[in-house]
Amino acid sequence: MKIGFIGLGNMGAPMAANLADAGHAVTGFDTAAKPEGLTLATSAAEAASGADVVITMLPNGDILRAVADQVIPAMTPGAVLLDCSTVDVASARDVAAQAADHGNQMLDAPVSGGIGGAQAGTLTFMVGGQEDAFATAKPLFDIMGQKAVHCGPAGNGQAAKICNNMILGITMIGTCEAFALADKLGLDRQAMFDVVSTSSGYSWTMNAYCPAPGVGPTSPADNDYKPGFAAALMLKDLRLSQQAAEGADADTPLGQAATELYAQFVEAEDQGHMDFSAMLPRFEKRGRG
Ligand code: NAD
Repeated sequence: MKIGFIGLGNMGAPMAANLADAGHAVTGFDTAAKPEGLTLATSAAEAASGADVVITMLPNGDILRAVADQVIPAMTPGAVLLDCSTVDVASARDVAAQAADHGNQMLDAPVSGGIGGAQAGTLTFMVGGQEDAFATAKPLFDIMGQKAVHCGPAGNGQAAKICNNMILGITMIGTCEAFALADKLGLDRQAMFDVVSTSSGYSWTMNAYCPAPGVGPTSPADNDYKPGFAAALMLKDLRLSQQAAEGADADTPLGQAATELYAQFVEAEDQGHMDFSAMLPRFEKRGRG
C-alpha cells in the first residue's frame, strides 16, 4: 500500500519503519523529527496525497484537528485516515465526520504497548470506525501490532483506551498505597506480593508490573523507575478520561482522585520523568498529614 505517515516521534518513527520494512511505500512527515531511513515529504498534505492510508501519530486532539485540516483535502476520496494517537473522544468523532464529508473513512486506533511495543511491532490497537475501513487497515495493524480489537463506531477506540487506562491508574495507586501501608505495618514486601498476587487483590499492576523493586517480574521499579510508561502519559490519559466523563455525565470519583494524585506527582514532585509506578516511593515517604 501507499502510506502517508504523519508524526514521526517516539512511537510514530518505529511504526513507520516497520511498515516500510514490510514492503509498503511509506512517505513520512513531521514538523520536527527527521528519522533516518524513511522517505520524507515537505508537508503533511504532500505525505497524504495519493496515499491509500494516511496514518497520524500525534501528541493531542488539537494537533490532530490542525493536521486533519491540512491532510483531508489532499486525500484521495476512498482513502482511509488512521489516527493512532491518544486524543479526546470528541476530537476523534469530529475528525471522523470531517473525513466522511470528503469521502474518506477514519479510524481512531489508539495503542497500548509503549515505545517497546512500537519498535517490536507488538502494539495492541483499540479501534473505532466502520467495519470496511477496519478490514482495509487490518494488514497494517498486523505489522505494527499483535492485536487489533474493533470496538464499534467512531470514537470507541479512544473510549476503550481511556477506560482501560483509568482502571490502570486507579489500580496502580491502590497497589502502591497498599505496599506503603504494608511497610508501615512491618509486612515484608515479598510476603505481601506472594499473598496478594495469588489472592483477590491481584491485578496487572501487582502481578505483571509490580511497583516494588526486587519483587515479582522485572519492571521499571527494578530500573530506578525509569519509564516504562511515564507518569506524565498516565496523567494525560486520566485527564482525557475525566474530560470524557464530564461530557457524558458519568460519575467517576476514583478516576478524579487518581487524576488529582498524578497531577500533583507529575507537576510538583517528579517533573514528568518517572514511571507511573513511582507512586510507591512517593507514598513511602509520606504520612497521613
Ligand atoms: P512524541 O512527542 O514523541 O511524537 C509526536 C510527534 O508529532 C513529534 O515528533 C512532533 O514533532 C510531531 N508533531 C507535532 N505536531 C505536528 C504537526 N502539526 N505535524 C506533524 N508532526 C507533528 O509522542 P509519542 O510518544 O510518539 O506519542 C504519540 C502519541 O501516542 C500520543 O498521542 C501518545 O499519547 C500516544 N502514546 C504514547 C505512548 C508512549 O509510550 N510514548 C504509549 C501509548 C500511546
